[in-house]
Amino acid sequence: MQIESAYIVGAGKEDADMEEQFLWMDKRMDARQGVREECGVFGAFDVEGHDVAPLVYYGLMALQHRGQEACGIAVSDTAGPRDAIFRKKDLGLVSEVLQDAAAGEMHGNLAVGHVRYSTTGASTRENAQPLVLHYLKGALALAHNGNLVNTNALRDELAYSGAIFQTTTDSELIAYLIARERVRTGSIEAAAAAAAKKLKGGFSLVIKSPRKLIAMRDPLGLKPLCIGKTGSCYVAASESCALDAVGAEMIRDVLPGEILTITAEGIHSDRTLLQKKHAKCVFEWIYFARLDSCIDGISVLEARRRAGRFLARVNKAEADLVTGVPDSGLAAAEGYALESGLPFGLAFHKNSYIGRTFIRPSQEARSSGVRMKLSVLKPAVAGKRLVLVDDSIVRGTTMKNLIRMLRTAGAKEVHVRISAPPFLYPCYYGTDVPTEKQLIASSHSEEEIRLMLGADSLAYLDVKHLPEMAGTDEICAACFLGTYPTELPEV
Ligand code: AMP
Repeated sequence: MQIESAYIVGAGKEDADMEEQFLWMDKRMDARQGVREECGVFGAFDVEGHDVAPLVYYGLMALQHRGQEACGIAVSDTAGPRDAIFRKKDLGLVSEVLQDAAAGEMHGNLAVGHVRYSTTGASTRENAQPLVLHYLKGALALAHNGNLVNTNALRDELAYSGAIFQTTTDSELIAYLIARERVRTGSIEAAAAAAAKKLKGGFSLVIKSPRKLIAMRDPLGLKPLCIGKTGSCYVAASESCALDAVGAEMIRDVLPGEILTITAEGIHSDRTLLQKKHAKCVFEWIYFARLDSCIDGISVLEARRRAGRFLARVNKAEADLVTGVPDSGLAAAEGYALESGLPFGLAFHKNSYIGRTFIRPSQEARSSGVRMKLSVLKPAVAGKRLVLVDDSIVRGTTMKNLIRMLRTAGAKEVHVRISAPPFLYPCYYGTDVPTEKQLIASSHSEEEIRLMLGADSLAYLDVKHLPEMAGTDEICAACFLGTYPTELPEV
């Protein structure tokens, strides 16, 4: 266990020595290239003073699908000194890194936690969260899901006013802004509100000050966030599955633009940043969120089933069996089967001990990763005409390999149905959609993709069905349409 301070505040750029200058420039360039992240956040405040670290551990375990690269917890006691905070963070899974938290060795009744998946070079321990900073009012810890689009402007503004950065994340800029505003405002929630006005892009945040837990969500609602309660403990989490995992009752989703402050006296809601226009990431329902979660009142399971039903209605194939790619395509496959009246069955066994193949660095590694993760259930597919449903095609690696494996196992036909529209544009808000160059659909027609995959037919969900699938028209579908709800980041 370690006590860490994460900031050097007040040293001017001109004052820093040469080595620091180079380090800063390096990190700044890294940041300009864009550290994209897909993350999960969890916060807990037990108003009767019980330890919360074990609960945060289980909450983060339930959010592990949102990030497998790094994780951490920062915890303190609301009755203790204002600047005492214990943080554990590192590269690795929750079960590997946070054993101390599970074992009850991290004490305190107020905590925030984070799981992280970054997609560019900055896979370092220093970029793991929660971020902790010690400033005038004590210790502040922050965990962030989402990406800002005005990172460069903020970084320059802060750097030229004397900030020296310890990480390459945009999350550090948020922490820095809040700390700076806190010196000028009367409370941490006022500081968070003042900082939030300067942020553009995706941010669902859990923040802990020495005595308060704050949960806030960007005004567009790009990333999910909800709150709940178990016994005397308030919790905030990226997804409702994490509330279920700790036995908490869902109170509600945090509203887009809302700042919730949880203190020993209860919950206070600041709605001054609320706006009419929302843009909730539709990919949360398609793929990213866990199947048992409910996001903004919409069940992920039901949304995926609806996507499958649309596919069956519009693109029904003559087939003997409907199957899905585990786990991401199964619910949509079930929807397809229900709508088409075709039987649903499993075609693959999944080895649950292998991580996501998507994050493997090379194409070759990704291909062998698919085979390691999924093996064909031969008796289920031999001699059959199959409808194979998955949530998305990015580079095409997964689908191409799966079709080859199914044919080797004796499948007669493979009709691919994708429960999302073709990925055509990058995401700037925190979901990992690679650059256009790597997106197979941005440079190939549907027929070319079908041939490359070796499928008998191929169909995607029509973009016009996205709002009905998600149960709301307040969605961000920029990765499919190329229309973004904010300004674009400068390159
Ligand atoms: P690919 O093999 O490159 O076509 O990737 C497709 C697979 O990656 C699908 O099975 C998806 O479930 C998964 N996938 C799609 N988008 C993402 C993402 N943003 N992060 C992690 N996995 C993803």
